[in-house]
Amino acid sequence: MAETNLFHFGKSSSPYETIARSDFLNHKWQDRSSVNNVNQLEMIAGSFLKPSTLTEVKEGLKKVGMSVRINPYIMEMIEWDRFETDPIRRQFLPMLSEIEPDHPAMTIDSLGERETSPVPNLVHRYPDKVLFLVTSVCPVYCQFCTRSYAVGQDTETVKKDNVSSPKYWDDAIEYIRSHPVIEDVVVSGGDIARLKPAMIKKIGTALLDIEHVRRIRFATKALSVQPMKFFSDENWFRTIVDVANYGRALFKNVYIHSHFNHPNEVTPLVELAMRRLHAEGIYVRNQTVLLRGVNDDPGTLIKLNKKLGRVNIQPYYVYACDMVKSIEHFRVPVQEIQYLEREIRGATAGFNTPLFVVDAPGGGGKRDVHSFEYQNEEYGIIGYRSPCIDPLKTYYYFDPLRSLTADIQKEWLKPGGHEAILAELGLGNLMRLAAE
Ligand SMILES: *Cc1c(COP(=O)(O)O)cnc(C)c1O
Ligand code: SF4
Repeated sequence: MAETNLFHFGKSSSPYETIARSDFLNHKWQDRSSVNNVNQLEMIAGSFLKPSTLTEVKEGLKKVGMSVRINPYIMEMIEWDRFETDPIRRQFLPMLSEIEPDHPAMTIDSLGERETSPVPNLVHRYPDKVLFLVTSVCPVYCQFCTRSYAVGQDTETVKKDNVSSPKYWDDAIEYIRSHPVIEDVVVSGGDIARLKPAMIKKIGTALLDIEHVRRIRFATKALSVQPMKFFSDENWFRTIVDVANYGRALFKNVYIHSHFNHPNEVTPLVELAMRRLHAEGIYVRNQTVLLRGVNDDPGTLIKLNKKLGRVNIQPYYVYACDMVKSIEHFRVPVQEIQYLEREIRGATAGFNTPLFVVDAPGGGGKRDVHSFEYQNEEYGIIGYRSPCIDPLKTYYYFDPLRSLTADIQKEWLKPGGHEAILAELGLGNLMRLAAE
């Protein structure tokens, strides 16, 4: 592998031209050098941007639910001469002109995670699996984060719940221990890349020591946004390997779940990280969020899955963007998601072809995008049932307003319009019937 490929991605000009390779490949330097606000962005990349573009970002940031954190690795990945359309930039830096008015059904916690939380930090929605939220910080912040109610710093529009704190971990672990039905634990956040090795060991061994827990997954975006973490933070890496080995000795699975959205993110550094994990027998599955202007075309998705497959990362899910406030511009209509799925299935091995899912608003869980039982194309409403969670209920997802006619958009946005439409379509009844 050519050395230059690991650094600057072979670019001729870069905001980090003068940075030593040893710094760039060090996770600590990456953390220390992160861009956390517009002033820092201006200082580091100002010369790559038109003043009007910088203003666009500044004004955009006032409207969104996520704060900014971008490390130099991601800054390098952005193609600054096509800032407006760059798929990496779009995920991490908002621009005022691209933000769209929210669909009235958008909420701050679309999946109802806070309602299905029996103890702090734990979501128990499905019968035999739980989501354990161990931290609310990440190496970078994604503008489309599902958990913007908790993750990252406060913004002008969202004050964060402080949901993840080690003081609650014991209660969560105790809850899992006292519920033998739970076999599967997703350890997520936030990002476990922000946990100290001792904390990972504590959580990992405590969970694996519970007899009925058969599998755990560590969710981390570090593999895609800070791959150097897997070779410059030896202690952290070894701890994950130790927990995986401990699990293996108990005939249990410890996997990593990653979050790659675009083929440009699968870099030679990612391959290096994967070579280490692979050598240790640790498997990685990937979850992609389908994002308009980032990966909503068949060619990009096929390329992403093939590149992931090449480095032994298994594409697992592609999620419809959740109905979280201020991310309307990222959403794609359900019919288009179904089209994308049909286009990509068959392009590579079936086991490297992800399932396209809608995480049903209101806590229905992940549903195959094709498995809907109600559809109204005119109003952009799609209904899924989820018998394992609630056999009587139908859960609705709503297409982005931009995909509807101007008249129907107006109807949705009128005060009280949302309720009127549902009543008119008999969906108020449908939901009431379902609850009886
Ligand atoms: C996604 C999720 C899980 C895991 O679901 P899988 O389909 O097995 O990946 C568990 N609990 C919650 C609350 C989730 O959102
Ligand atoms: S890495 Fe995950 S939890 Fe963190 S900001 Fe991105 S989507 Fe949210």
